[in-house]
Amino acid sequence: MATESNLPSTLLDVRNLKTYFYLDEGEVRAVDDVTVRIDRGKVLGVVGESGCGKSVLARSIMRIVRPPGRTIDGEIIYYQPTGEDGGYEEIDLQQLPQDGERMRRIRGADITMVFQEPMVSFSPVHTVGDQIVEGILLHQDVSKEDAREIAADTLRKVGIPNPDQRIDAYPFNLSGGMRQRAMIAMALSSNPTLLIADEPTTALDVTTQAQILELMASLQRELGMAMMLITHNLGVVAQMAEEIIVMYLGKIVERADTATLFRDPKHPYTQELLKSIPQMRRERQTNRLTAISGTVPPPFIRPPGCPFHPRCPQAMPGVCDVVEPQTLRMGENHTVRCLLYDDEAKAVAVGANIDTQDGQD
Ligand code: SF4
Repeated sequence: MATESNLPSTLLDVRNLKTYFYLDEGEVRAVDDVTVRIDRGKVLGVVGESGCGKSVLARSIMRIVRPPGRTIDGEIIYYQPTGEDGGYEEIDLQQLPQDGERMRRIRGADITMVFQEPMVSFSPVHTVGDQIVEGILLHQDVSKEDAREIAADTLRKVGIPNPDQRIDAYPFNLSGGMRQRAMIAMALSSNPTLLIADEPTTALDVTTQAQILELMASLQRELGMAMMLITHNLGVVAQMAEEIIVMYLGKIVERADTATLFRDPKHPYTQELLKSIPQMRRERQTNRLTAISGTVPPPFIRPPGCPFHPRCPQAMPGVCDVVEPQTLRMGENHTVRCLLYDDEAKAVAVGANIDTQDGQD
């Protein structure tokens, strides 16, 4: 435990995190040695197709992974503010009992989560207001009346009209967009230091999607909280995130600040993801949007070498299907996991191939 006077810029430091699932079909490395930092008040975008480990990473941080899944290694260091004096405490969330009092407090108050489908968070048989009030009472030392006032105020903040009446609505009384706003209100009612938003707009129509994203961006700035925004769509994070990590089959394959990632993407997977975003600013869309060929393989059948090689347009036969790429630094705040940039690994693989052929001659 460390208590000092100035809050560090880092809010959450995830180090070498591994969360595996043990299924009859085999071991699934959903999060495989992930190291990432989330800074106080900043937005981190987490991008990748379904099945790449984004949501499991979020759930691992929240400590809500259930069997057959288990976080088997790594640290989740949370620098928890201790009060007005700028002090903080350094806690490894991974060491706390998953359902213990302390972890539950952090989970509901400091770190909260918005899911793709609001009905995951809301009970259908209680009013939206009662559920928000219950969360507030659990984590804040306020009276029931004050909690109801905070709840109504938060509903107002997220743009729900007539919050004093809507507070008594049941989730099914609200439209999809309003339910999503109510869920954001529930997540914000405890003034979290980190909001994890897992595909928060995927289930909504495009107009509502844009409204919700705008709302989240303005609330994030206003409240100064950090946000981890998970999406399969790079276009969604372009406007909001300061930094982006791209995940494929449980690993971070590229990490960079947003401007660098869009200007100079290094990993073929990132390049393919970018090709699938419509370019709104072009006068006329001349190129067709392309989809990435193939699909994410079943997670328990992990391709050897670079796991992206069966789908990669730049794959080097005899290299990419043999050698597993390591993380390489491409710039001050830019890393990539791809053999195109690793001359040493390429030379070793080519040398090994030649030796094998010589042996067969
Ligand atoms: Fe493509 Fe090879 Fe790079 Fe993997 S290591 S992304 S297969 S070029």
